[in-house]
Amino acid sequence: MDSDIKDKLLFPRKDASVFMGREDIKAADEYCKAYISFLNTAKTEREAVSAAVALAEKEGFIPWKKGMKIKSGDKVYFSRRGKAVVFCTIGKKSFASGLSIVASHIDSPRLDLKMQPLYEDSGMAFFDTHYYGNVKPYQWTGIPLALHGFIVREDGRELAIQIGEKPDDPRFFIADLLPHLAEEQMKKPVKDAVPAENLDVLAGLNAAPGESGTGAVKLNILRLLYEKYGITEKDLVSAELSVVPAFSASELGLDRSMVGAYGQDDKVCAYPGLTAFLSVKEPEYAACLVLADKEETGSLGISGMQSAFFPNFINELAEAAGESANAREVFSNSFCVSADVNASWYPLYKEAFDKYGDAKLNHGVILFRYWGQRGKENTNDADAQTVAALIKILDEADILWQTGEGGKVDAGSSGTLSRFFTSLDVPSIDLGVPLLSMHSPFEGAAKADIYMAHRAFTAFFKRN
Ligand SMILES: [Zn+2]
Repeated sequence: MDSDIKDKLLFPRKDASVFMGREDIKAADEYCKAYISFLNTAKTEREAVSAAVALAEKEGFIPWKKGMKIKSGDKVYFSRRGKAVVFCTIGKKSFASGLSIVASHIDSPRLDLKMQPLYEDSGMAFFDTHYYGNVKPYQWTGIPLALHGFIVREDGRELAIQIGEKPDDPRFFIADLLPHLAEEQMKKPVKDAVPAENLDVLAGLNAAPGESGTGAVKLNILRLLYEKYGITEKDLVSAELSVVPAFSASELGLDRSMVGAYGQDDKVCAYPGLTAFLSVKEPEYAACLVLADKEETGSLGISGMQSAFFPNFINELAEAAGESANAREVFSNSFCVSADVNASWYPLYKEAFDKYGDAKLNHGVILFRYWGQRGKENTNDADAQTVAALIKILDEADILWQTGEGGKVDAGSSGTLSRFFTSLDVPSIDLGVPLLSMHSPFEGAAKADIYMAHRAFTAFFKRN
């Protein structure tokens, strides 16, 4: 067959190392250096909001206040309790023409401290935890951990805390049973081997000065917290304290082709979304970047995508645009790319993956229309027009892209933010980065795919 016809008929998978030129590969490498430093400053959603706002303010973004007027080129943002944030650059077209939205989430699986977390057993003080998001408990034992959080003291003062990140900081850990005594444990199914109630963090061993007996070690931990932060056991009730891996993000592989880090789901899409958004200064359609919280637990809560904070904000912008636009009209004219990760094919677990349909590392961004078990349950299943419109944008910008199925049919399930935008009548489709070891304390992604995500979102914000 004529090779021209063959090229036309087939849609083969392309490898980034073939598709990308030397310059592009170098650019991806440079790009990921900044991504790695972003990851190291943004392990929790609050830290990600602070880091994103700091970068945006440097570009002239200001906090939105109700009553402000807006015009083309204006740059505003709205932070919901410091846990979710929406940035908007007003476009050249009327606000009623709709928005270009890129939405990702900035919360990641972790272990949260319970409301009354401190207890003592056998002369050891522990922080009692309740896991956040879908984790495999056994992965959290025997690794260095850090404590990140946000506290509102009884006197009203707000404090951000971080213990375990500086080189001379103490780390924390969750002990596992030694293999010598684990004969019974090793017979259990993996999901039962480490019960979630055993994911308690060892906080210390020393008794408070002049104290002895039961409770003296717990008291000492409270004394140390009081001396450093002025907080009491009661302040822990309202505090958001999370245990996250203490690892730093780094390059992976002898060829440095990947990035390894905690929390790449979904900062591996949030960061490219942010850099793309900030690079498009004068968009045709108003550009909107959503960094949402609570995706890992169902997008509920005040800072989750099921809260009304996003439509409320857009409604205020529509009013401020001074046209007869209302949020409903703005939404139905908009286009949303839900930027989330998807599973990457891995040859050592072939049994879980779809050999022909799953995405591969180093093969570009993944376009996916649906996810879900039991017949695409709870999924967006993007319509043909939306999918075709995105493909056109990607192809015109020479983006390396692939499709992904998220594993074999009914092998498991997940979800993205896409469905919450379609609930607002915004056409929406998922586009993201393939990830290895998703939801583990250390996830891997390919630099080429991360850079392609930046380029793809940039092309999307530039649509006309
Ligand atoms: Zn996730």
